[in-house]
Amino acid sequence: MTRRKIVAGNWKMNGSSESVVELVKGLKACDTVDVVVAPTFVYLPLVAQQLVDSPIKLAAQNVSEYTSGAYTGEVSLSMLQDFSVSHVILGHSERRALFAETDTQVAKKVAATIAAGLTPILCVGETLEQREAGTTLIVCNAQVDAVLNEIGVELFEKVVIAYEPVWAIGTGKSATSEQAQEVHKGIRDNIASQSVEIAEKIAILYGGSVKASNSAELFAQADIDGALVGGASLDAKEFNSIIESAK
Ligand code: PEP
Repeated sequence: MTRRKIVAGNWKMNGSSESVVELVKGLKACDTVDVVVAPTFVYLPLVAQQLVDSPIKLAAQNVSEYTSGAYTGEVSLSMLQDFSVSHVILGHSERRALFAETDTQVAKKVAATIAAGLTPILCVGETLEQREAGTTLIVCNAQVDAVLNEIGVELFEKVVIAYEPVWAIGTGKSATSEQAQEVHKGIRDNIASQSVEIAEKIAILYGGSVKASNSAELFAQADIDGALVGGASLDAKEFNSIIESAK
């Protein structure tokens, strides 16, 4: 089955009102690849304005699992919808490690995101310690299962997964295409144990030091359906080359 490729840029807590506008102006959309950019919350309205009439989609880097009310510092799904946000990155390892997000919380956020009609990009991945202990697939599939158990396999079709080995994020040290393919297949097989049809449909992106020099090889793997790109997505030329290699 051919799945449409997705290339998403996670800008993290970077940029200024001036630089994000420049960055968007430099991006080249593509007919055959879904391109998504994720600025920090405060720049969403600005980037949304720049993307009117563009096929490039807009993502948030997080969202509250609650609808509204006394949740100081949080941002709701309806607020994201106000600015045409279509995707939400959830369970990023930085949120899990630095802000103590749990599998349960991530699962609730995924459920709320789907209920609101947005697409969650669910990040999963193992630490170096876990890889060295041989528990990579156990860890990744436990993170996937927490969501599967919350929403059920039918709704899981609406989820995009990003496999991001923690040791490869922001380190310049990408997983090899073989290492990534092995985990992507293991994640797809785990979903297939509940539904072969949904496992075949679901997009599994790779993330972790993706750059123009390694993206084509990663995208050539059978179970790699695109990338979630951090550092390299802050450079329009580099990001455009990654998009180009996904065609
Ligand atoms: C990320 O943070 O999602 C990521 C993949 O970062 P980088 O590409 O910089 O490793």
